[in-house]
Amino acid sequence: MSKPESDVIRLPDGAVLPRLGQGTWFMGEQASSRAEEIAALRYGVELGMNLIDTAEMYGDGRSEELVGEALRGIRDSVFLVSKVYPHNAAGASLVRSCEASLKRLGTDHLDLYLLHWRGTIPLAETVEGMEALVASGKIARWGVSNLDIADMQELLRIPGGNHCAVNQVLYHLGSRGIEHELLPWQRGHKIPIMAYSPLAQAGKLRKGLTENETVQRIAESHGVTPLQILLAWSIREGDVMAIPKAGTRRHVEENAAAGKLVFTADELWQLDDAFPQPSWKVPLDMI
Ligand code: NDP
Repeated sequence: MSKPESDVIRLPDGAVLPRLGQGTWFMGEQASSRAEEIAALRYGVELGMNLIDTAEMYGDGRSEELVGEALRGIRDSVFLVSKVYPHNAAGASLVRSCEASLKRLGTDHLDLYLLHWRGTIPLAETVEGMEALVASGKIARWGVSNLDIADMQELLRIPGGNHCAVNQVLYHLGSRGIEHELLPWQRGHKIPIMAYSPLAQAGKLRKGLTENETVQRIAESHGVTPLQILLAWSIREGDVMAIPKAGTRRHVEENAAAGKLVFTADELWQLDDAFPQPSWKVPLDMI
């Protein structure tokens, strides 16, 4: 049997993250689904998925506003993550972005603040700005997103760059490029991967993924859906966490249940066979 040793991931600074959190892209966009989305997020927290990921980009702040509403009365039990646009990721713009996110989220600090992707601002300026936000107490720690290995290596050569807490990247059964180089490198440097789109956006990111015969057979034998197999697979090892987005209580419940699923070595081998990891370096997949 293959089972991670713990239900949590520990960052080098001692912070504890659940292996499953919750994404919020496209939440807060429609008034008609607002109450359901808030209820879904709160339910997810109750079920132990107490990390919520958002970004200033999502719905131009509407996702953060919705998360702020969902957090009322439970802020302290949630590990809150937001992201800054690359063009805002230094100096006064970084402080302004962070403060605006805090205001929309109705909180005085973020547990983790990420550079959403690399833009034209030098990484050294972003690190300097992030470290200043930590010093001012507006964020507890910082990390990055969508950085491939060369960018990560550059980041770690910058003074303070080794304080990077996580790298949030695309990772699902149908997109395994990070396993070749980035994931082992991050393991060596104790920087966990936070997997985004772990459900391949309900299978839409890779044709044939949820319809795959192996995925379906394993799902059937566990009495779960193919998407639950995808989610359980993304966190099958103890140092990768995932942030599925679910807008309904039912989906949230299924996702939380997937966190408890344990594969046999043979099932993992069959999934490897159906969706092999690349044996050469491929560019980092992103959306
Ligand atoms: P996901 O892979 O999480 O898929 C989300 C889709 O899956 C939604 O359509 C959702 O529908 C559906 N879904 C969720 N649970 C179930 C279930 N149990 N059964 C059936 N369908 C289900 O895609 P995302 O792209 O949203 O990625 C997750 C999060 O990662 C984002 O929300 C965001 O926070 C982050 N992200 C970060 C990026 C970055 O650049 N750093 C890029 C992309 C995402 P429904 O809403 O109806 O439940």
